[in-house]
Amino acid sequence: TTCYLNGDYLPLAEARVSPLDRGFLFGDGAYEVIPVYSRRPFRIGEHLRRLQQTLDGIRLVNPHTVDEWAERIARIVAAAPFADQSVYLQVTRGADTKRDHAFPKDVAPTVFIFTAPLTTTPDSVRASGVAAVTAPDERWARCDLKVVALLANVLARQHAVDQGCAETILLRDGCMIEGAASNIFVVRGGVLLAPPKDRRMLPGITYDVVLELAAAHGVPYAVRDIAEAELRSADEVWMTSSTKEVLAITTLDGEPVGAGVPGPLAQRMHDWYQLFKDEVMRR
Ligand code: PMP
Repeated sequence: TTCYLNGDYLPLAEARVSPLDRGFLFGDGAYEVIPVYSRRPFRIGEHLRRLQQTLDGIRLVNPHTVDEWAERIARIVAAAPFADQSVYLQVTRGADTKRDHAFPKDVAPTVFIFTAPLTTTPDSVRASGVAAVTAPDERWARCDLKVVALLANVLARQHAVDQGCAETILLRDGCMIEGAASNIFVVRGGVLLAPPKDRRMLPGITYDVVLELAAAHGVPYAVRDIAEAELRSADEVWMTSSTKEVLAITTLDGEPVGAGVPGPLAQRMHDWYQLFKDEVMRR
């Protein structure tokens, strides 16, 4: 497929970045993942707004306007031989001529965009739900920023995979924070619970859609800290992300969640999400 690198459109296999790139040396960069349905990016404005927040948070000047980003993304999406995609974009603080932690002077950022087929969850997996494990959250204090320094997230996700599970739910200060690469919702007594968007978690675009849909469909919900004990005794636990959408977690640390099958609210929220997507894409 075609990718974008620093002003050029070229085959992904031919794209080259310097080994002195600060993304490679320090994980010094920001990224976004934007789902694309039938060649139409979903919530691109929200993704580009979150990119701006990340860039502001790491003091990296945004190399492009929203329109410039949208145009570059549109070209990559149009060139791809598949319709449903996940577009990845990354901005790093560029490649200096030496390795020095402090910001380089007069170095252009590295801008990279590529796309891949959107991997959908098989119906059988959706029907059974997935297994998750818990682990202490060992990430830094700015988990609200979508930065490429993802080693702690990588280790957390591998922790799940090593146990045959789909996700690791991270716990900090006695609270459920989020997954290694997803936000987590809990249902207790018919009330949807979401952890607050603070510096401990990534403000998910899907998280916002889920809360909007809950409000639109009259589902009672609360945004507040969720204690580990509340997670463990939940009726339903869901993971959400741009690529997983809304996916029920039916086993947690080897114990069934609620009845051990996707709960009624998870199924309704999944259906509402599909309808909402269809509606937005038809506009
Ligand atoms: N939390 C983390 C740590 C993530 O990496 C992601 C996305 N991959 C999410 C939450 C979900 O965010 P979104 O709904 O915007 O994909």
